Amino acid sequence: MVIRTKILATIGPASGSTDRLCRLFEAGCDACRINFSHGSDEQRDECLGNIRAVEQQLGQPIAVCGDLCGPKIRVGMMAAGGAQLDAGAETAIVRQAVDGTAWRFSTTLPELIEEAAVGETICLDDGQIKLEVIATDPPESIRCKVVRGGRLTSGKGVNLPQTDLSLSALTEKDRRDAAWIAQRDFDYVALSFVRHAEDVRQLRQILQDHGSEAHIIAKIEKPRAVENIDAILEAADAVMVARGDLGVEMDLPAVPVAQKRIAARAQQAGKPCIIATQMLESMIAQATPTRAEVNDVANAVLDHADAVMLSGETAVGRYPVEAVTVMNETVDAIQGYHDEIDAGPRVTYIDSPTTAAIARAVREIIQHEDIAAVAVHTATGATARMLARNRLPCPILALSPSPQAVRRMVLYYGVIPRQVDRTPQHTRDVLGRAERIACRLGIARDGERIVVVSGRPLGQPGCTNTLVVHRVGCGDGE
Ligand code: PGA
Ligand code: MN
Repeated sequence: MVIRTKILATIGPASGSTDRLCRLFEAGCDACRINFSHGSDEQRDECLGNIRAVEQQLGQPIAVCGDLCGPKIRVGMMAAGGAQLDAGAETAIVRQAVDGTAWRFSTTLPELIEEAAVGETICLDDGQIKLEVIATDPPESIRCKVVRGGRLTSGKGVNLPQTDLSLSALTEKDRRDAAWIAQRDFDYVALSFVRHAEDVRQLRQILQDHGSEAHIIAKIEKPRAVENIDAILEAADAVMVARGDLGVEMDLPAVPVAQKRIAARAQQAGKPCIIATQMLESMIAQATPTRAEVNDVANAVLDHADAVMLSGETAVGRYPVEAVTVMNETVDAIQGYHDEIDAGPRVTYIDSPTTAAIARAVREIIQHEDIAAVAVHTATGATARMLARNRLPCPILALSPSPQAVRRMVLYYGVIPRQVDRTPQHTRDVLGRAERIACRLGIARDGERIVVVSGRPLGQPGCTNTLVVHRVGCGDGE
């Protein structure tokens, strides 16, 4: 059976060689994330080159996402590597870069001093340590009480969940990185700490100014983004439930609810949703996952994730191939159950009622008849996205002459994208081509039926209007 939930793996030192990449893809990986928080431009160039070489070698399109760091604030240098902050004690955050101690330390954002207000919370090291601001002394420092203590070391993350930082979601480094990405073969750019749709539009402008049509994944990791989810979904091409920072910025028990709501809104909007972070965290150090982790991956599928993501597990972990294998087996094992309980499309689509009606009709046919696969000829990938959003219980073979559209579609639920050399002239050419490729990929056999969706005039975006039920090996549609 074709596995429909996609796997996005973060590539790092543990997985960036061509040999390792091949093994990840053989284990079921579909797409790669290159994180701009770590490493150098040279390393990223090499990594991208290796991914594209593996893509050629395996003959399978690979989507690559560049993930911008965004305004991630970090603790400055700590003296002697670190210091113990005890609950109940006082400490200060200072503007000037200092060698930090338990009594005073600095961060990578000097302006933090002006932005945090008395009574607000500051989380350090993914929320392991919690401070409350008790006095501000601008422009030099703020005084804090340690609410939850712990050992603080250099470079740990700093989150201010209650503070409305005036920082842009795009830092100077992000703008440089976005321009660098725009000049290379990236399919997606992920934007961290999005708060409003405007953040997404700014990135889109930068990409366009540099001639890139890469699609944008808005990372939902701030409560403000959860509030603005509908406008963000409209501006972005996809979203990621970035549970790492989201789990620091909001109460941890509220994160599962946020995940379900974001994924549901994304499906409603017809935009892919990636669920990310700590999915198989224990596999960074161990060859087998915990029961809870496997449950988490399976539940992400039931929440309607298009893709699930691995971070440290594949970037720096000891068992990157094993992690992809476990993830792949888990999404495979839940697939049949998902189809059993999936109530079908609860979505309406106003932009293109004809495409939506055809997508609904396809689902209706599949539910009542024996259909091996759906094949679609799509110029931009939009029709494949509409079909994916209806969570069809069979694979969708999506053919496009655009290599960009083909790679983008890799992230869509259930979609197997393949590039074709040109737009066919007639609907019967679409049928012939679809059945040949479907048979070659093993998703349909002689005598089985496939549903073929296309549009007339062929190759023109927004014209999906044709649906044919076709028996493989028997010539034209029956
Ligand atoms: P990050 O994003 O790994 O780039 O921080 C994901 C998350 O915060 O969950
Ligand atoms: Mn994050």
